Amino acid sequence: MCGRNHVADSNSVSNFHEIITRHTDIDLSIDFERTSVKGTTAITAECISEISEIILDTSYLKIDSVTVDGKPTQWELQPRSEPNGSPLHVRLARRYTNGESVYIKIEFETTTQSTGLQWFSAEQADDKKHPFMFSQCEPVHARSIFPCQDAPSIKSTFRIGVLSPLPVVASGIPEHDLIFPPLESSLSVKHYIFNQDIPTSNYLFSVASGNMVGEQIGPKSYLYCSPGNMDACREELKPDLRAIINAAEKLVFEYPWPLYNLVVLPKSFHLGGMENPIFNFYSATVISGDCENVNVVAHEFAHSFSGNLVTNASWEHFWLNEGWTVYIERFILREVRGEAEETLRAMVGWQELEYGIESYGGDDSLDTAMVLDFRGKRPDDIMSTIVYEKGYTFLRYLEETVGRSSWLPFVPYYFTKFSKKAVDSTQMKFVRPLFEGLISVDGSLALQVYEKYKTFYHPTCLRLIRSVLKNGGLL
Ligand SMILES: [Zn+2]
Repeated sequence: MCGRNHVADSNSVSNFHEIITRHTDIDLSIDFERTSVKGTTAITAECISEISEIILDTSYLKIDSVTVDGKPTQWELQPRSEPNGSPLHVRLARRYTNGESVYIKIEFETTTQSTGLQWFSAEQADDKKHPFMFSQCEPVHARSIFPCQDAPSIKSTFRIGVLSPLPVVASGIPEHDLIFPPLESSLSVKHYIFNQDIPTSNYLFSVASGNMVGEQIGPKSYLYCSPGNMDACREELKPDLRAIINAAEKLVFEYPWPLYNLVVLPKSFHLGGMENPIFNFYSATVISGDCENVNVVAHEFAHSFSGNLVTNASWEHFWLNEGWTVYIERFILREVRGEAEETLRAMVGWQELEYGIESYGGDDSLDTAMVLDFRGKRPDDIMSTIVYEKGYTFLRYLEETVGRSSWLPFVPYYFTKFSKKAVDSTQMKFVRPLFEGLISVDGSLALQVYEKYKTFYHPTCLRLIRSVLKNGGLL
């Protein structure tokens, strides 16, 4: 029987349903002057079908050479086709069968059009002396940094090697000392190596390099930022960190990654934060001087479970990443700052949801559904906070319907069952055990929730949720 991967993903042209990346070995050399990265990626992949060709996602990359199992091979970088980029077709010397392993090595270079890398000149960086670069791969920009199966359902272990004249962080456990030595007056290129042993999606690949210093702020946590910002960053981020971790661990289970580090990027980073594993990236705008952005850290930390450990199988099921994350974020806020803070954030979120639905075409628009349709579209164009808040509201609704004491044990169950895997909401697998448990307590209630779940993405479901939450005094 063929072991084809049946996950559909309209945002990847790779043949990930026939062959799956198991390990990714990347070597990058950062060139600040040319604002480009030259590199090699070596992918160890397992065939789950009989194949004679491998197709990888790329976007605005220059490909120099390709080998398969150590031998040069025929390859073709096909013309760019929006919205998914330029497929790289690699011919295999023979047919590979189900279960066989293939080793593909590709030399490449990024271009100035690479959408996954941001470069700042010395004048634009916070220290005004050294340039700064960092990656932002979510949702589909990893393919503009290295050729890969850029589908969130494909999760592999990583080894990341980076050559740079400035300190480097990347999405793995560093082999070097966690505290960088002081910068020398004459910069020399150094080699940094990171290992990621928990399988992660390519969109979670990350790298940043610039004048950063590090300081330990918790048993497993280090903080990195521009040297002149350390006092302000520490005062902002250290006080609540232990409580945030404790609260998430109370809801889900022990933090599963070996380290939790925070990197504060230059002010130009446009998002509040990005949940890159081991090293979460934060905008300097989070440093407000009064710890008022605790929700941003709670959110990115929550992604350690929802998104990074249990991942949406495709971007159309983005609510499984973000709805769960907002749910965990607000649980953390209740524990750390009290119920009033959680209620306030939930009310603001609900208003944003109503406003978002109105501006994206109303309840009946496909763009406001919880499960989106990205066929022929760029995920960046449609992803909005609607999915975050609708997902949160749906989970909160389930909690309200079944009762808190029945609901809470389901949270660690879900994250244990799907740990290191990718899930989509059509599987419905993740709620079935909850209903089975409920049936023994209240069969008719279980059936009702099950029916609601089946239609949760239908507009009338939101109207129903709204009325239930209002009746429960939650709105
Ligand atoms: Zn998020």
